[in-house]
Amino acid sequence: MAHQLYPSLFAPLNVGPFTLPNRVIMGSMHTGLEEAKDSHAKLAAYFGERAKGGVGLIITGGVAPNFSGRVSPFSGQFSWPWQVKGHAVVTEAVHAYGGRIVLQILHAGRYAYSPFCVAPSRLKAPINRFTPFALGRFGVAKTVRDFINTAKLARRAGYDGVEVMGSEGYLIHEFTAPRTNLRKDNYGGSFINRIRLALEIVTGIRRACGRDFLIIFRISVLDLVEGGMSWDETVQFARALERAGVNILNSGIGWHEARIPTIATMVPRAAFVEGSRRLKEQVKVPVVAVNRINMPEVAEEVIARGDADLVSLARPFLADPEWTRKSWLGKRDEINTCIACNQACLDHIFERKIASCLVNPRAAHETTFQEAPAKKPSQIAVIGSGPAGLSFAIEAAKRGHRVTVFEGRSEIGGQFALARRIPGKEEFRETIRYFETMMKKYGVRLELNSKMDAAYFASRKIPAGDLSSSGFAAVVLAAGVRPREIPLLETARVRGDSRVVAYDELIRGTVKAGNRVAIIGAGGIGFDVGSFLASPDDHALSLNPATFFRHWGIRWDAKGGVEGVKPAPLASVRKIYLLQRKNEKLGMRLGKTTGWIHRKELADQSVEMIAGVQYREMDATGLWIERHSGTPKAERDHLDVDQVVVCAGQESENGLLPELGALGVRAFIIGGAKQAGELDAKRAIEQGVRLGEQIEMLLESGTA
Ligand code: NAP
Ligand code: SF4
Repeated sequence: MAHQLYPSLFAPLNVGPFTLPNRVIMGSMHTGLEEAKDSHAKLAAYFGERAKGGVGLIITGGVAPNFSGRVSPFSGQFSWPWQVKGHAVVTEAVHAYGGRIVLQILHAGRYAYSPFCVAPSRLKAPINRFTPFALGRFGVAKTVRDFINTAKLARRAGYDGVEVMGSEGYLIHEFTAPRTNLRKDNYGGSFINRIRLALEIVTGIRRACGRDFLIIFRISVLDLVEGGMSWDETVQFARALERAGVNILNSGIGWHEARIPTIATMVPRAAFVEGSRRLKEQVKVPVVAVNRINMPEVAEEVIARGDADLVSLARPFLADPEWTRKSWLGKRDEINTCIACNQACLDHIFERKIASCLVNPRAAHETTFQEAPAKKPSQIAVIGSGPAGLSFAIEAAKRGHRVTVFEGRSEIGGQFALARRIPGKEEFRETIRYFETMMKKYGVRLELNSKMDAAYFASRKIPAGDLSSSGFAAVVLAAGVRPREIPLLETARVRGDSRVVAYDELIRGTVKAGNRVAIIGAGGIGFDVGSFLASPDDHALSLNPATFFRHWGIRWDAKGGVEGVKPAPLASVRKIYLLQRKNEKLGMRLGKTTGWIHRKELADQSVEMIAGVQYREMDATGLWIERHSGTPKAERDHLDVDQVVVCAGQESENGLLPELGALGVRAFIIGGAKQAGELDAKRAIEQGVRLGEQIEMLLESGTA
């Protein structure tokens, strides 16, 4: 019988050798576990948890078929028989839950961060400092053999198949696209020559691994760079792959060097599925839609509309391993939604750290968390309903503790309640919805508009493990932060000058935006306030694919999606200056994978960015500053503005801690209240979850 809510998503599908129970694929995502100590045990726990959560098919992170194909010299490679045993630990863990898993074979080509990188031609990638060696005739033949060898080993290790990575600008894609293939031999020049390597790999794997082995090929449906394949060529290529024995065509969107966002949070949901639809019209094998599909209703719509046969979600499975099971059970509100921030997944990978997830710190760290219920549950009070406080409350309540959250404001969410109001950050609403749902599920009591003092808790002290009387065995202080009050703001308050405001007043809507605004401080929040002020109120860019495509200059009928198309950036609705004291390029410290987007967006909207500034005075005519542009002599300057928004970092709301201590109340402090510098939701949530897990032990041991 068809599923009531998501009939298309939960319809079984025959894919070559077997039948998948649903249309959900966990897409390939490198986590760093591949190279970690005890990697196979950790990967088994990571993938096993997702298989248990009901996903139809899992694709591993990319593994290189040879040394030059490694993403970096120490990244994973699967080329030797002695490795089979380790991989089998992973496949067995997935099969134990009835899941299926395929190994992605990825040759990084000129994106390999290594002096040994190779490519079809000696052309350096703009995002790599190493220039590749051009593969010779023997090198090409060896690469084909190495792909086939890895596929054969994968089969021996129990993988149900392989995905051949042929998109995103990696080696195979570098061969197929004229942009990077200047060869004069049988593997360059004509279209037939450029796709030869891909076809030899697929044909060879099919021949070596048999008909009952799944082969997925990830084909680029949109290059987002000049010099890509034409759409006609893509269709011919897809049909040739089909004839060569591919069972599923996965869609790839954009080269890594493309300067257009494809997965960041400001990309509208399911923005690129048209590429999969266009491909699906041309082939018989199932086609997979990708990118920014993070909720079941979005996935259902994609399949039901016929845009694709399957959907691939990668980061959403970091955020919630039970995504599929919760969708199946009709509990979509319990899904911990991926907000596409990249902060703990891709940014970690670029920093050579193990990936995790901002909203789910367990992700890829499964073996370091305990899930056991409390033996002696306690009553615990939490002050503050930001990400730290709510993560603690939910985790502790899940273990059986009785938790009450006191929030001074009329809404929950802390800094997330501000972030969700920023254009392009609408996904933060989902985390707040998740917190609300889970609080209800685990019986967390919420007291809004409740600013309690230390005396209140001192009068309600009860021992740990006592659930019979009202009161609290401990208080968790998670009151978050307050914006830093710089002298300019303090002076304005004394004078009753309402033109100088803190960022939270502006974002919450307690003050109206001016027409000509100077933003003091160019950290993450300064940039957020910049886009809040620059954009019209309709959030159209991040919610509407057509507007997004126009804005970034993407057209499906253009070669590579971009050739000859002019982007149409939205003009700012007001004059904005973004200022900082440091004499360095603004936005240098923003997230690695998203910072460039924020910088480009504000620059396109003509936001004037000025570094090396000292703030002097706000008078009737505007803001007086001094510019220090490297010379000893500062230049006094005047900005004709009617408002100054201060985004100069934060200070901890930790005043209650010593008061609680003095009154003998056991207290713990987490999140921004503990450490405001480099205020970080990732750290706040992890601290909340870890304390929720450990609180019983800490109460027993008398630690606070
Ligand atoms: P932040 O990143 O620390 O930036 C604070 C800004 O204020 C800096 O530009 C700093 O630059 C300036 N500043 C500091 N003290 C000042 C003072 N006394 N007077 C004048 N200016 C001063 O803090 P944030 O912008 O509040 O962001 C907090 C955290 O939120 C970030 O660490 C980030 O993790 C997160 N976040 C990230 C994003 C993102 O990546 N897109 C967005 C939002 C929030 P100068 O000292 O040079 O003036
Ligand atoms: Fe999604 Fe952010 Fe988690 Fe990455 S860190 S999986 S982008 S929520």
